[in-house]
Amino acid sequence: MTEQAVISGTKSVLPKDDLDYEVIVIGAGVGGIYQIKKLLDLGIDATVLEGEPDLGGTWYRNRYPGARFDSESYTYGYSFSRELLDEWHWKERFSGQPENLRYLNYVADKFGLREHMQFDCKVERIVFDEALDGWRLYLRGDRTLSCRFVVTALGPLSTPTMPSYPGMDRFRGDSFHTFYWPEDEVPLAGKRVGVIGTGATGVQVIGEIADKVGQLTVFQRRPNWTAPLNNGPISDEEMAAIRDRYEEIFENCANSPGGFEHEPDRRGFYSLTRDERQALWDRLYDEPGFGIWLSNFVEIFTEEKANAEFSEYIANRIRQRVDDPDVAEKLIPRDHGFGIQRVPLETNYLEAYNRDNVQLVDISETPIQEITETGLRTSESSYELDLIVYATGFDALTGAYDRIDIRGLGGVSLRERWEQGPSTFMGVLISGFPNLLMVSGPQSGSVSTNFPRGIENGVDWITDLLTHARARHHHRIDAIADAEQAWTKHVADTYRGMLLRKAQGWFTGYNSNVAGHEAGTVRHVVYNGGGPKYVAKLNEVAASGYDGIRFG
Ligand code: NAP
Repeated sequence: MTEQAVISGTKSVLPKDDLDYEVIVIGAGVGGIYQIKKLLDLGIDATVLEGEPDLGGTWYRNRYPGARFDSESYTYGYSFSRELLDEWHWKERFSGQPENLRYLNYVADKFGLREHMQFDCKVERIVFDEALDGWRLYLRGDRTLSCRFVVTALGPLSTPTMPSYPGMDRFRGDSFHTFYWPEDEVPLAGKRVGVIGTGATGVQVIGEIADKVGQLTVFQRRPNWTAPLNNGPISDEEMAAIRDRYEEIFENCANSPGGFEHEPDRRGFYSLTRDERQALWDRLYDEPGFGIWLSNFVEIFTEEKANAEFSEYIANRIRQRVDDPDVAEKLIPRDHGFGIQRVPLETNYLEAYNRDNVQLVDISETPIQEITETGLRTSESSYELDLIVYATGFDALTGAYDRIDIRGLGGVSLRERWEQGPSTFMGVLISGFPNLLMVSGPQSGSVSTNFPRGIENGVDWITDLLTHARARHHHRIDAIADAEQAWTKHVADTYRGMLLRKAQGWFTGYNSNVAGHEAGTVRHVVYNGGGPKYVAKLNEVAASGYDGIRFG
């Protein structure tokens, strides 16, 4: 049978009652783990396919030194089980990768989820079979599976991107993207290390390894605004107090736009004096976590003048902490204000530049021309290196979908449909791609918040939707095209009035290493209305009997 025959449903190779699973979840990260738990609780025949050798997603990869939450650990963990909350002791306010991976394994083992996961299962192609009212999945290695519903839990930042400098394959030392930092220890002592990229990842690596390597050269194209993480241990007593407060903590997260306990300051930027504003900033700068970003005045995000005043405050902090004034000026962003791109939180990052063994190279002035056998060459100098670390980011949100050949009704390719940017209903469904449900998909509110808080909202809604459809014996769930258009327009509207629309980062769907992305063009990949509004909209759709969705 030809592929087209399968797609158009003229003939089916599988009888309808012969699906391998009712639901296949793709991805065993934070989203996939929670999704399979919910499906199993309902007695649904489901499995998780994971391309990596084990579970954990983001926290299975990203083993680079310094990788840790910048959400408070106790707001990042799952909220669904009181028993789990009582058992788990977060050791640090912002827990590191090894502990985070241990946590996810603990959750999977505690709830018996691992046996419902299949590892090393890379999904390469999925095709909707109309006769079957279900999906056929084609896995690397010639394996195929079928199911009624596919839930994608692919992760918003799971597709790393590399630059394309000439000579990259010539380098004789070690080199890798931070996402693929090896599991085995990478010797750093005495090594000449180059780090390319100064986003949230680069900032974490640089702060962590500066005092462990021989020589560190940072190749920075555009500086990022940063703020201190102010991490610290969580004692037994503090953990007990956190446990007592869990209900309140999750309630606070649910009520805040970002899914944190940090609430925007709504007193009004201009109703306070400059000294009063500065007093708030002095306090927030010394507090742990994202308060400096998310407990700030709302005008910071919408008004150039307010943003400029605050950006200058942070610029002065940089000038105070970095000894060499020339280096300090290079570390101050000029092309965007504070907080309109994702703010990296740092530990010892700025102080790293005060060390004799650390050098900052501004590659916007002197671009990298090629990677050589022994290092790299910019337009000005050559640098001898033993290790090159690419902290060059991700093809966010849509990248993971583009990597799978996804074919909906009539064989339509999702990659082609989304070429100019994604379009979805609620960030969960795509019209013409029935029975495909996205956890933390593009245009969902789940990706503009503290990720697990958004993931839980998304998974709960998807699970309720499946329950609704199953109870009515529906075989098909599809978004109505008009409803999708309306949601996509609404998402675009959430960029209006926000300074972030001028950013060049993943919030605006931009990555310079991805063909087709144009600097200055906004792809509406994120719903910016905040968690509470997003959840209210999800609830509204459910309460209406799922207006915007066609069942069949
Ligand atoms: P990123 O923010 O996209 O930063 C990538 C960096 O690489 C930028 O400095 C970029 O410069 C540079 N770069 C990219 N391509 C380059 C090229 N061809 N030549 C030179 N420089 C290049 O990526 P990221 O740092 O991996 O962070 C991505 C997201 O992951 C974060 O925003 C955050 O959401 C998440 N993250 C979270 C945590 C956490 O929770 N603790 C930690 C790390 C990351 P330009 O700015 O000039 O493009």
